[in-house]
Parts: sequence; C-alpha cells; structure tokens
Amino acid sequence: MHVIVLGCGVSGLSCGIRLLEAGHTVEIRARELPPHTTSDVAAAVWGPYRAFPQDRVTAWARRTFNVLCELAARPEAGIQVVRGVELFNEAPPEPWWAPCVPSLRAATAEELVPGFSHGYSFEAPIIEMPRYLPFLQARFRERGGRILQREVRSLDEVWREAPVVVNCTGLGARSLVGDDSLFPIRGEVLRVAPPPVAGFIVDESEVRGIGYVISRSADCILGGTAEDGNDSLVPDPAKGEAILERCRRLLPSGARFQVLEHKVGLRPGRPTVRLEEERVGEHRVIHNYGHGGAGVTLSWGCAEEVVALVGPVH
Ligand SMILES: Cc1cc2nc3c(=O)[nH]c(=O)nc-3n(C[C@H](O)[C@H](O)[C@H](O)COP(=O)(O)OP(=O)(O)OC[C@H]3O[C@@H](n4cnc5c(N)ncnc54)[C@H](O)[C@@H]3O)c2cc1C
Repeated sequence: MHVIVLGCGVSGLSCGIRLLEAGHTVEIRARELPPHTTSDVAAAVWGPYRAFPQDRVTAWARRTFNVLCELAARPEAGIQVVRGVELFNEAPPEPWWAPCVPSLRAATAEELVPGFSHGYSFEAPIIEMPRYLPFLQARFRERGGRILQREVRSLDEVWREAPVVVNCTGLGARSLVGDDSLFPIRGEVLRVAPPPVAGFIVDESEVRGIGYVISRSADCILGGTAEDGNDSLVPDPAKGEAILERCRRLLPSGARFQVLEHKVGLRPGRPTVRLEEERVGEHRVIHNYGHGGAGVTLSWGCAEEVVALVGPVH
C-alpha cells in the first residue's frame, strides 16, 4: 500500500521506517526537514514529560526505551545509555513510569547533589538529536523511502495520491486538521561545551523552576523552560541567564564551559496524545501527534501502533 506520512520530525521518521519494514511504499512530506523541526531542539533524554494518558504513554514509553537501548549499540545513531539522577527536596513517591525502567533505585548519598535530600537514580538513553535525526533519515532512505519538502494545506491534497495518510505534523496539526486542543509548550535550552558532568541531572524540586543538565558526547544541554501558550521562537536572553543560574546549582562548583547556542522549541502540547484512525468517506488518516515533552520518548511505541492501524499490505 502507498502511504504518505506528513512530518519529518522524530514521529514521522519513526513511522516511515516501521511502515517500510512492514512492506508499504512510503513518502514523507514535510514543511520543514531536520535540522529545522521541533525534534531537533529536544534535549533529549528518555522521560515521559507532559504526555498523556498515563496508561497508553507507559506502554509507548516502555517499548521506545527498549528500542533506543538496542539502537545505542550502533555508534552512528548518537545514543548513549547512561546513569543519571532526578533530585527532590522531600521523599518522592515511586514514579508512575517506574515499570519502564528496570535500573531505577533511590540515589545514593554520593549521587545526590548538595542542596537536595532525595533522588532517583536510573539508566536511560540520551539521544543526540543532531546525530539521531540524520541517522533516521538515512535509514528511511536506505529502505526505499522518499522525502519531499513541501507544505500540505489540507488532507484532500494528499488523499488524491494515497489512500492512507499518517499525520505526524506536531503543532502543525492545529491548522492542518483544525485541532484547537493543541497548544505550544515553549522550551528554551542552552548548548554548552565541554560537558561539565557525565550523564544527566534533573531538578524535580520545582522550587526555582525547571533545571536539567544532559551531557552528550561532545557538548551538553542545559535547560530549561516550559511556557504554555507562548509561540515565540525568539530566544530570551534573561531566560538564558536564569537557566544558567539554575543549572550552576546542579554542577560541581567552578565547572567551566562555554555557551555555544541558545535554542527555542515549541513542544506540541495536548490534553492527550492523538493516536487514532479517522475515516472520511473512502479515505483514511492515522493521526499521531500531540506528544508534549515526550515525542522522542514515545516515538517507536507510537510508530508500531500506527503500523498496526494502517493494517496489512494489500
Ligand atoms: C526544549 C525542548 C526539550 C525537549 N526535550 C525532550 C526530551 O528530553 N525527551 C523527549 O522525548 N522529548 C523532548 N522534547 C519534546 C519533543 O521535541 C517533541 O515531543 C517532539 O519533537 C515531537 O515530534 P514530532 O515529530 O511529533 O513533531 P515535530 O518535530 O514538530 O515535527 C513536525 C513535522 O511536521 C511538519 N509539518 C507541520 N505542519 C505541516 C504541514 N501543514 N504540511 C507539511 N508538514 C508539516 C513539520 O515541518 C515537521 O517536519 C523537547 C522539546 C523541547 C522544545
């Protein structure tokens, strides 16, 4: 079956690869390609942040965790599975996503950062998006997929060419299918080098605002912010300074690094991820968007459910 996937972020590429593997012919059509999608800005560490509902998200996140750990064996994928900590000021309950992460345990005194009394420690994949997205694009093309850069203004445009369309347009679904429940969750991050620590550190105390440090092979992402409803893509220098200040508290005193880049992305917020089939007359669209702050974390689990909804090759 010929399938057109709309969107070339992590959702569209993962769906495209799994659909090709299932025997379909696939074209990705997207307004922006990497490195210009929201997915390029993702920090990105595995973690189901601001994505719902919990039961479906847990299943997608668990499956994706396993696939990302397998891909980490291939150096060109840009994934490292590393230990990191999430920090709190009081004893936290067990996280709802604990069933996905076999290595989760209480942080030891040595792992806790001064100023925090409690924490979880666990191993999770860190995904370097500037390496991972080109890796996915190459995999998609190697399997016979085609990528076309073009904006699509209505599903009718593509239904003329393919009976089944997969909608992975992220926040773009607001205008493409008129989904008013989608909203931007604006996030700012700093890219710094060299990495001041190994692994990842996340401040979950919410006393000072969001703070995280995610070290990659040659650089490190410091975050962050989460502003609902703001869709400005212009970095705010004051917010960048505040991120630095929050992250300095998480790092060893005197850690030295240089700020290389200040980036902004709009997470596709939605009360729930939309992953479902819609039929319009003879035409079909499988929606797969609204993954909030967890599009990378849910990508393979969602892609495999999309393939099941598309159905067998005729
Ligand atoms: C600062 C920040 C940090 C983050 N950290 C993490 C993290 O650590 N872990 C994690 O899992 N997630 C993280 N995220 C969230 C993650 O980036 C998103 O959930 C994810 O990128 C969504 O991917 P997507 O492919 O669905 O959408 P996108 O990456 O937005 O891709 C959408 C695609 O659709 C295309 N498109 C849109 N409209 C149209 C149209 N009309 N016609 C044709 N094409 C169209 C776009 O051009 C693009 O190609 C973070 C996000 C931000 C901003």
